[in-house]
Amino acid sequence: LVQLTGVNKWFGELHVLQDIDLSIDRGEVVVVIGPSGSGKSTLCRTINRLESIEKGEISIDGQRLPDEGKQLARLRSDVGMVFQSFNLFAHKTILQNVTLGPTKVRGHSKADAEKRARELLERVGVSAQADKYPAQLSGGQQQRVAIARALAMDPKVMLFDEPTSALDPEMINEVLDVMIALARDGMTMIVVTHEMGFARRAANRVVFMDGGRIVETADPETFFTAPRSDRARDFLSKIL
Ligand code: ATP
Ligand code: MG
Repeated sequence: LVQLTGVNKWFGELHVLQDIDLSIDRGEVVVVIGPSGSGKSTLCRTINRLESIEKGEISIDGQRLPDEGKQLARLRSDVGMVFQSFNLFAHKTILQNVTLGPTKVRGHSKADAEKRARELLERVGVSAQADKYPAQLSGGQQQRVAIARALAMDPKVMLFDEPTSALDPEMINEVLDVMIALARDGMTMIVVTHEMGFARRAANRVVFMDGGRIVETADPETFFTAPRSDRARDFLSKIL
């Protein structure tokens, strides 16, 4: 479903993504881990072309992502993204946050968008907050709204970039539980996280990045118990 072939990206002199090859099947959940600065966020951002690439190809569902234009906007809306900071619209209600994309970008009617939004808010467990504003919600609730908002666009793949790292510990699990349920429902997901519990329970594959390269790819059990590379072993010894 998602295919990266020979992807290279530079920030000036910095070769931030180096020869990335990654192929993700429909329904697959891939966890990306690696040290700070290894290129994890940049990788996510290139997949929906928030960042351009200098070399290589990215395709989603068989369609190559162009550099710009109308088609890019359409293909980009196939990719849902959830960031570390929840990025909700502060002056809109929770319900409005979730209906905005479907009405403005997808052209759905307000009534249809609201019906679907309420279902999604129910699914992530914040339906009681629909008429409140983001600042009235906890971080965990806001992040679940951000997930509902992304899902409202019916994405083919969901990208999560450290979705729980800005949350207080007691709120981490409520967000991870929503993500685990989403994974079980068959959503294709790319998740940057250091939450090993999530990786163990939900990931089909772990991709370890260092210095802009994919150093190692393995199933979670193998990766956490018997990583092959010295760099992965070293990294795990610091975080586990
Ligand atoms: P972290 O775990 O800290 O989030 P990361 O693996 O997500 O790290 P990236 O944010 O992808 O790492 O950054 C990779 C490298 O690219 C870093 O050295 C970073 O400083 C650099 N970088 C990121 N964005 C830019 C930018 N817009 N301009 C220049 N350099 C950048
Ligand atoms: Mg990052």
